[in-house]
Amino acid sequence: MMTIQNNLLNIKEQIQNLAISAKREPNEISLLAVSKTKPVSDILEAYHAGQRFFGESYAQEAAEKITEIRSRGITDIEWHFIGPVQANKTRIIAEHFDVVESLDRARIAKRLNDQRPPLMPDLRVFIQINISREPQKSGVSFEELPELLAYIGEMCPRLKIAGLMGIAENVSDKSEVIPQFQALKDTFDRISRQYRELTVLSMGMTNDMAEAIACGSTEVRIGTAIFGARQYHV
Ligand SMILES: *Cc1c(COP(=O)(O)O)cnc(C)c1O
Repeated sequence: MMTIQNNLLNIKEQIQNLAISAKREPNEISLLAVSKTKPVSDILEAYHAGQRFFGESYAQEAAEKITEIRSRGITDIEWHFIGPVQANKTRIIAEHFDVVESLDRARIAKRLNDQRPPLMPDLRVFIQINISREPQKSGVSFEELPELLAYIGEMCPRLKIAGLMGIAENVSDKSEVIPQFQALKDTFDRISRQYRELTVLSMGMTNDMAEAIACGSTEVRIGTAIFGARQYHV
Protein backbone atom coordinates (compact mmCIF):
# COMPACT_ATOMS: atom_id res chain seq x y z
CA MET A 1 0.00 0.00 0.00
CA MET A 2 1.25 3.50 -0.82
CA THR A 3 1.53 5.58 2.29
CA ILE A 4 2.10 9.33 2.53
CA GLN A 5 5.53 8.56 3.92
CA ASN A 6 6.39 6.37 0.90
CA ASN A 7 5.02 8.96 -1.50
CA LEU A 8 7.21 11.64 0.06
CA LEU A 9 10.28 9.43 -0.28
CA ASN A 10 9.45 8.75 -3.93
CA ILE A 11 8.94 12.41 -4.74
CA LYS A 12 12.17 13.42 -3.05
CA GLU A 13 14.04 10.76 -5.00
CA GLN A 14 12.45 12.02 -8.25
CA ILE A 15 13.41 15.60 -7.42
CA GLN A 16 16.97 14.47 -6.78
CA ASN A 17 17.18 12.57 -10.07
CA LEU A 18 15.61 15.41 -12.06
CA ALA A 19 18.04 17.89 -10.51
CA ILE A 20 21.01 15.72 -11.41
CA SER A 21 19.76 15.33 -15.00
CA ALA A 22 19.48 19.12 -15.21
CA LYS A 23 23.02 19.47 -13.73
CA ARG A 24 21.60 21.23 -10.70
CA GLU A 25 22.10 20.86 -6.94
CA PRO A 26 19.24 18.70 -5.54
CA ASN A 27 19.15 20.67 -2.30
CA GLU A 28 18.36 23.95 -4.05
CA ILE A 29 14.85 22.59 -4.81
CA SER A 30 12.39 22.55 -1.95
CA LEU A 31 9.20 20.55 -1.72
CA LEU A 32 5.91 22.21 -0.78
CA ALA A 33 3.33 19.57 0.21
CA VAL A 34 -0.06 20.79 -1.02
CA SER A 35 -2.60 19.59 1.55
CA LYS A 36 -5.73 21.48 0.42
CA THR A 37 -8.94 19.48 1.02
CA LYS A 38 -6.93 16.87 2.98
CA PRO A 39 -7.55 16.18 6.68
CA VAL A 40 -5.27 17.12 9.56
CA SER A 41 -4.38 13.43 9.98
CA ASP A 42 -2.78 13.43 6.51
CA ILE A 43 -0.81 16.57 7.30
CA LEU A 44 0.40 15.03 10.56
CA GLU A 45 1.47 11.87 8.75
CA ALA A 46 3.58 13.95 6.36
CA TYR A 47 4.89 16.01 9.27
CA HIS A 48 6.01 12.92 11.16
CA ALA A 49 7.78 11.78 7.98
CA GLY A 50 9.81 14.99 8.17
CA GLN A 51 7.85 17.34 5.89
CA ARG A 52 7.81 20.97 7.14
CA PHE A 53 6.46 23.09 4.23
CA PHE A 54 2.73 22.88 3.47
CA GLY A 55 0.55 24.68 0.92
CA GLU A 56 -3.16 25.45 1.29
CA SER A 57 -5.64 27.12 -1.10
CA TYR A 58 -8.83 27.78 0.86
CA ALA A 59 -8.42 30.36 3.62
CA GLN A 60 -11.13 29.25 6.04
CA GLU A 61 -10.38 25.54 5.75
CA ALA A 62 -6.66 26.22 6.15
CA ALA A 63 -7.06 28.46 9.20
CA GLU A 64 -9.02 25.74 11.00
CA LYS A 65 -6.40 23.09 10.23
CA ILE A 66 -3.51 25.38 11.16
CA THR A 67 -5.15 26.26 14.47
CA GLU A 68 -5.79 22.62 15.30
CA ILE A 69 -2.23 21.59 14.45
CA ARG A 70 -0.73 24.44 16.51
CA SER A 71 -2.94 23.51 19.44
CA ARG A 72 -1.19 20.14 19.43
CA GLY A 73 2.09 21.94 20.08
CA ILE A 74 3.42 21.69 16.52
CA THR A 75 4.87 25.11 15.71
CA ASP A 76 7.64 24.39 13.20
CA ILE A 77 5.53 24.09 10.04
CA GLU A 78 5.86 26.81 7.41
CA TRP A 79 2.42 27.51 5.90
CA HIS A 80 2.13 28.82 2.33
CA PHE A 81 -1.11 30.21 0.90
CA ILE A 82 -1.29 29.28 -2.81
CA GLY A 83 -4.93 29.88 -3.80
CA PRO A 84 -6.60 32.96 -5.26
CA VAL A 85 -6.75 35.67 -2.56
CA GLN A 86 -10.21 37.19 -2.14
CA ALA A 87 -10.37 40.60 -0.48
CA ASN A 88 -12.68 39.32 2.26
CA LYS A 89 -10.13 36.61 3.19
CA THR A 90 -7.01 38.76 3.53
CA ARG A 91 -7.27 39.12 7.31
CA ILE A 92 -7.52 35.42 7.98
CA ILE A 93 -4.60 34.82 5.61
CA ALA A 94 -2.47 37.58 7.17
CA GLU A 95 -3.13 36.12 10.63
CA HIS A 96 -2.30 32.49 9.83
CA PHE A 97 0.28 32.17 7.06
CA ASP A 98 4.05 32.58 6.75
CA VAL A 99 4.09 33.00 2.96
CA VAL A 100 1.51 34.05 0.34
CA GLU A 101 2.56 32.68 -3.07
CA SER A 102 -0.44 33.93 -5.03
CA LEU A 103 -0.22 37.71 -4.70
CA ASP A 104 -1.19 39.40 -7.96
CA ARG A 105 -2.89 42.74 -7.12
CA ALA A 106 -1.91 45.98 -5.38
CA ARG A 107 -5.19 46.23 -3.49
CA ILE A 108 -4.71 42.76 -1.99
CA ALA A 109 -1.08 43.54 -1.14
CA LYS A 110 -2.15 46.65 0.78
CA ARG A 111 -4.80 44.75 2.72
CA LEU A 112 -2.36 41.96 3.67
CA ASN A 113 0.17 44.62 4.70
CA ASP A 114 -2.31 46.51 6.86
CA GLN A 115 -3.80 43.37 8.42
CA ARG A 116 -0.54 41.58 9.27
CA PRO A 117 -0.59 41.38 13.08
CA PRO A 118 2.12 43.61 14.63
CA LEU A 119 3.63 40.78 16.68
CA MET A 120 4.11 38.46 13.70
CA PRO A 121 7.18 38.62 11.43
CA ASP A 122 6.82 40.36 8.07
CA LEU A 123 4.71 38.33 5.63
CA ARG A 124 6.77 36.82 2.83
CA VAL A 125 5.05 37.12 -0.55
CA PHE A 126 5.63 35.63 -3.99
CA ILE A 127 4.14 37.37 -7.00
CA GLN A 128 2.01 35.04 -9.10
CA ILE A 129 2.49 35.62 -12.83
CA ASN A 130 -0.06 34.42 -15.38
CA ILE A 131 2.54 32.48 -17.38
CA SER A 132 -0.03 30.69 -19.55
CA ARG A 133 -1.73 33.99 -20.44
CA GLU A 134 -5.13 32.28 -20.17
CA PRO A 135 -7.63 35.06 -19.40
CA GLN A 136 -9.46 33.09 -16.69
CA LYS A 137 -6.25 32.35 -14.76
CA SER A 138 -4.94 34.29 -11.78
CA GLY A 139 -1.67 36.15 -11.87
CA VAL A 140 -0.27 39.48 -12.96
CA SER A 141 0.98 39.75 -16.54
CA PHE A 142 4.73 39.91 -17.20
CA GLU A 143 4.17 43.48 -18.41
CA GLU A 144 2.48 44.61 -15.18
CA LEU A 145 4.98 42.97 -12.83
CA PRO A 146 7.37 45.96 -12.43
CA GLU A 147 4.54 48.25 -11.40
CA LEU A 148 3.25 45.79 -8.78
CA LEU A 149 6.76 45.26 -7.38
CA ALA A 150 7.28 49.01 -7.12
CA TYR A 151 3.93 49.47 -5.36
CA ILE A 152 4.71 46.80 -2.76
CA GLY A 153 8.20 48.22 -2.22
CA GLU A 154 6.80 51.68 -1.54
CA MET A 155 3.49 51.02 0.17
CA CYS A 156 3.81 47.67 1.97
CA PRO A 157 6.57 47.65 4.61
CA ARG A 158 5.14 44.51 6.30
CA LEU A 159 5.51 42.46 3.10
CA LYS A 160 8.82 40.96 1.97
CA ILE A 161 8.99 40.11 -1.71
CA ALA A 162 10.56 36.65 -1.61
CA GLY A 163 9.68 34.85 -4.84
CA LEU A 164 7.78 34.40 -8.08
CA MET A 165 5.13 31.74 -8.69
CA GLY A 166 3.57 30.42 -11.88
CA ILE A 167 1.05 27.76 -12.90
CA ALA A 168 1.54 26.32 -16.38
CA GLU A 169 -1.31 25.50 -18.70
CA ASN A 170 -2.82 22.06 -18.12
CA VAL A 171 -1.98 20.35 -21.43
CA SER A 172 -1.51 16.72 -22.41
CA ASP A 173 1.63 17.43 -24.41
CA LYS A 174 3.95 18.45 -21.58
CA SER A 175 6.56 19.97 -23.90
CA GLU A 176 4.13 22.87 -24.39
CA VAL A 177 4.68 24.09 -20.82
CA ILE A 178 8.43 24.55 -21.30
CA PRO A 179 8.27 28.00 -22.95
CA GLN A 180 5.95 29.16 -20.14
CA PHE A 181 8.38 28.00 -17.44
CA GLN A 182 11.34 29.42 -19.36
CA ALA A 183 9.74 32.84 -19.58
CA LEU A 184 9.20 32.82 -15.80
CA LYS A 185 12.79 31.73 -15.19
CA ASP A 186 14.13 34.55 -17.42
CA THR A 187 12.07 37.10 -15.53
CA PHE A 188 13.16 35.60 -12.19
CA ASP A 189 16.85 35.89 -13.15
CA ARG A 190 16.40 39.51 -14.17
CA ILE A 191 14.25 40.64 -11.22
CA SER A 192 16.25 38.82 -8.55
CA ARG A 193 19.32 40.89 -9.42
CA GLN A 194 17.35 43.98 -8.37
CA TYR A 195 15.44 42.46 -5.42
CA ARG A 196 18.04 40.62 -3.34
CA GLU A 197 15.47 38.92 -1.10
CA LEU A 198 13.60 37.48 -4.07
CA THR A 199 15.15 34.00 -4.04
CA VAL A 200 12.37 31.47 -4.70
CA LEU A 201 11.08 30.38 -8.10
CA SER A 202 7.92 28.37 -7.36
CA MET A 203 6.87 26.33 -10.38
CA GLY A 204 5.95 22.71 -11.03
CA MET A 205 3.09 20.50 -9.79
CA THR A 206 2.52 16.74 -9.86
CA ASN A 207 2.07 16.64 -13.65
CA ASP A 208 4.78 19.06 -14.76
CA MET A 209 7.44 18.77 -12.08
CA ALA A 210 10.04 17.37 -14.49
CA GLU A 211 9.70 20.26 -16.95
CA ALA A 212 9.73 22.83 -14.12
CA ILE A 213 12.93 21.48 -12.58
CA ALA A 214 14.61 21.35 -15.99
CA CYS A 215 13.68 25.02 -16.41
CA GLY A 216 15.13 26.13 -13.04
CA SER A 217 12.38 25.78 -10.43
CA THR A 218 13.57 26.11 -6.81
CA GLU A 219 10.25 25.01 -5.27
CA VAL A 220 7.76 22.44 -6.54
CA ARG A 221 4.20 22.38 -5.17
CA ILE A 222 3.03 18.77 -5.01
CA GLY A 223 -0.38 17.59 -3.86
CA THR A 224 -1.72 14.56 -5.70
CA ALA A 225 1.54 12.60 -5.79
CA ILE A 226 1.83 12.88 -1.98
CA PHE A 227 -1.74 12.74 -0.69
CA GLY A 228 -3.62 11.10 -3.57
CA ALA A 229 -6.41 12.56 -5.72
CA ARG A 230 -8.56 15.26 -4.15
CA GLN A 231 -12.31 14.93 -3.70
CA TYR A 232 -14.32 18.12 -3.77
CA HIS A 233 -17.62 18.19 -1.94
CA VAL A 234 -19.65 20.91 -3.59
C1 LIG B 1 -3.60 22.30 -6.00
C2 LIG B 1 -2.37 23.07 -6.38
C3 LIG B 1 -1.12 22.42 -6.55
C4 LIG B 1 -0.92 20.92 -6.44
O1 LIG B 1 -1.41 20.27 -7.57
P1 LIG B 1 -1.17 18.68 -7.81
O2 LIG B 1 -1.46 18.52 -9.24
O3 LIG B 1 -2.13 17.98 -6.92
O4 LIG B 1 0.24 18.39 -7.47
C5 LIG B 1 -0.03 23.22 -6.84
N1 LIG B 1 -0.12 24.56 -6.97
C6 LIG B 1 -1.31 25.20 -6.83
C7 LIG B 1 -1.34 26.68 -6.99
C8 LIG B 1 -2.45 24.48 -6.54
O5 LIG B 1 -3.63 25.14 -6.41
